[in-house]
Amino acid sequence: MIRLPVLAAALAVASLATTALAGADEGDILVQAGHEGRPASCAVLHVRACNLGASSADGTMERTWTVVVADEATRVLRAHGYTVVRRPADYDAHDTVKAAVFIHFDGSEPCASGASVGFPATTSRAFVDGWETSYRAFFPYRFVGENFTENEHRYYGFRKVDAPEKMLIEFGEMTCPAQFAWMKPRLAEMGDKLAAFLMERVPK
Ligand SMILES: [Zn+2]
Repeated sequence: MIRLPVLAAALAVASLATTALAGADEGDILVQAGHEGRPASCAVLHVRACNLGASSADGTMERTWTVVVADEATRVLRAHGYTVVRRPADYDAHDTVKAAVFIHFDGSEPCASGASVGFPATTSRAFVDGWETSYRAFFPYRFVGENFTENEHRYYGFRKVDAPEKMLIEFGEMTCPAQFAWMKPRLAEMGDKLAAFLMERVPK
């Protein structure tokens, strides 16, 4: 007889915990590492299009690199007093921030691509231009354009956050051997560049 109320209480606590996990988070900046946590997170969150991301000729996964860049950008931003919501590919939440960035590396026919950006119409021209100017000065390969695929323009992550500025960043093409070799030792530096850009554009 004693067990039933205990079980009910346990269920209530479990349900509260789930609600808290699913709740919205607020912060200055959201940083998502593209494809992080997949494929495991797809089953849990019922993601049908479970895109695992690109991989290089030597089997390096895009989702290994996106985590390095995202973690470094997050570390620097937090060290400078920003509140960062750090997200993987799949999560059951809707966040509110001032700016949201989604980190990716491209894969294609070898060397047919390069760096690019994707963003919804609400993102300001100044925000996009600011990143392009900064990254073009650093990245010595092709900048292939803006919203050059539907996936970039209508990225599912854009719908999971309220933010005046939202941008998906492809840092380069990992299926291009020259770009791959150049990028591999510079992942942390990419995170630093991203953090510096965000600190310039986003008020605390
Ligand atoms: Zn990707």
